[in-house]
Amino acid sequence: MAGLIPSAATLTDLAARAAGRCRRWAHAGIDRLPRQCELCRQWSEQPVCTGCWARFAPPVARCPRCAIAMADGRTCGPCLRQPPPFTHAIAAVDYGYPWDALVARFKFHARPELATCLARRLAECIALSGATTVDCVLPVPLSMQRLRERGYNQAWELARRIGGQLQIATDARALVRGRDTVHQVGLGRAARASNLRHGLWTDPRAAARIQGRRLALVDDVMTTGATADAAAQALLRGGAAQVQLWVLARTPSQD
Ligand SMILES: [Zn+2]
Ligand SMILES: [Zn+2]
Repeated sequence: MAGLIPSAATLTDLAARAAGRCRRWAHAGIDRLPRQCELCRQWSEQPVCTGCWARFAPPVARCPRCAIAMADGRTCGPCLRQPPPFTHAIAAVDYGYPWDALVARFKFHARPELATCLARRLAECIALSGATTVDCVLPVPLSMQRLRERGYNQAWELARRIGGQLQIATDARALVRGRDTVHQVGLGRAARASNLRHGLWTDPRAAARIQGRRLALVDDVMTTGATADAAAQALLRGGAAQVQLWVLARTPSQD
């Protein structure tokens, strides 16, 4: 008889699996419910309707190195003068009306359904550009303090969905950020200085997942590119073969 009575561990496991299934059904149900477009408030099956994508996110020619809007998709002056550490950058939209407000809703109000539709759009742009020959997709990390405040890293919410969509491996732990726990042992002086300035470095335990790999860094918004530069440089110092940058929104040139 004793063999027929499930153990506490089995019951806990069954409960966790049932809860997970309920959450997935709930999300699937929410995805299918009619809703209003986040931008125009018309009824739509998706958080952003096809009309708004067409109106507010038309195809834009961009600098291949930093994704700033450039006529004819030429490399921009700043990238010619001082090439960024990433070989290629892709952005889905310009950071401005109405995407700034939508990104803020996604970033500060834990809206996973927005992450799904935004990541899908960015993945489509990446696939269209043909820049999918990467081994792994990584988010620009948040510091532990910021992660605790927000509860999630918006860049990881995008990165893991993009990885799923493009069938590329993802890694949320290889690149880390935070000044309190910087692992500086064995680093040269320049690397230490850069770590201190930006608090970005690779986890020594992830060395095998970085060395010789083609990596794609994902972030929600690229403004000056300083954080993306520091993150890419940290990965290259860790031995990455090359780093691309994939961002949802690119701040346009102020000229
Ligand atoms: Zn709309
Ligand atoms: Zn550029």
